[in-house]
Amino acid sequence: MEKKKIRNPLTEYYTEGYPKQEQEAPGVQADMTPKPDCGEYSYKGNNRLEGRKALVTGGDSGIGRAAAIAFAREGADVAINYLPSEQRDAEEVAEWIKKAGRKVVLIPGDLKDEEFNKEMVEKANQELGGLDILALVAGKQVATEKIEDMTTEQLRSTFEVNVFSLFWTVKAALKYLPAGATIVTTSSIQAYQPSAILADYAASKSAILAATRALAKQLAPKGIRVNCVGPGPIWTALEISGGQLQENLPDFGQDTPLKRSGQPVELAGVYVFLASEESSYVTAEIYGVTGGNHLG
Ligand code: NAD
Ligand code: MG
Repeated sequence: MEKKKIRNPLTEYYTEGYPKQEQEAPGVQADMTPKPDCGEYSYKGNNRLEGRKALVTGGDSGIGRAAAIAFAREGADVAINYLPSEQRDAEEVAEWIKKAGRKVVLIPGDLKDEEFNKEMVEKANQELGGLDILALVAGKQVATEKIEDMTTEQLRSTFEVNVFSLFWTVKAALKYLPAGATIVTTSSIQAYQPSAILADYAASKSAILAATRALAKQLAPKGIRVNCVGPGPIWTALEISGGQLQENLPDFGQDTPLKRSGQPVELAGVYVFLASEESSYVTAEIYGVTGGNHLG
């Protein structure tokens, strides 16, 4: 029998710098070079989420796509939310979820709109026949070198997408979530080590962390656990659609101890763990996936 090779984290994934490339936000992953690795050809499931029903925001691309594909391969039916301009990416994810033998529900719409958040939850619950995982991955990041250039419109929409929609979604979903349901939010290493050019984004990611911990305590008596993932530099559409300065792309992620950026698939296992019963005694935590530049 052939022995399975152990994989080296230094060389297993893309190690080079990235070519400069710019898209309008939120970007389309299908047009990126190279394309982020969301586990399409590698993630193997093991029934860890059998029969579960998940809503994944930002599920069309990047980290949300990796979570959505992994959830499906672990046995969950999955609804994904994204912006209408990302339909192409979303349809690719739908194909992967169907190939895993699971049900998929596509729910395009803008999380800045409170009413839409309610409609999204209603539709996910109705079409999946229940809801017991919320993976809140959607996010907005606009690199801004000077506070003088930060518009109120940007400030407001960063907080609406990253923070307000978390509250709106959880509030709307609560009546459907049974004991045993899990909520996984998405913060960032920026909550701990904010970059000069990401002041509004970093502040919103700190807010997510605090909200996660408070809601974990509030919902514990209902048997609902709430945890958070804190990614470091991950190669996704967010970074090439205004989230980073173009001049930072060639070296993106190279300053981590693992000397490369992460790929979305490298977060899939963490979302699965926090969504599953394997993490039954874990709540109010943040789990870093940073290539070594650790949280805290
Ligand atoms: P991504 O661009 O692939 O995913 C972000 C998604 O957010 C988009 O696909 C889009 O569907 C969604 N979104 C944005 N604005 C929206 C709106 N108004 N309404 C509905 N959906 C909207 O990029 P990603 O890096 O995979 O981002 C996923 C999460 O990871 C985000 O919360 C981001 O802040 C976080 N994160 C990313 C990194 C990184 O280096 N890429 C690091 C730390 C945290
Ligand atoms: Mg996208």
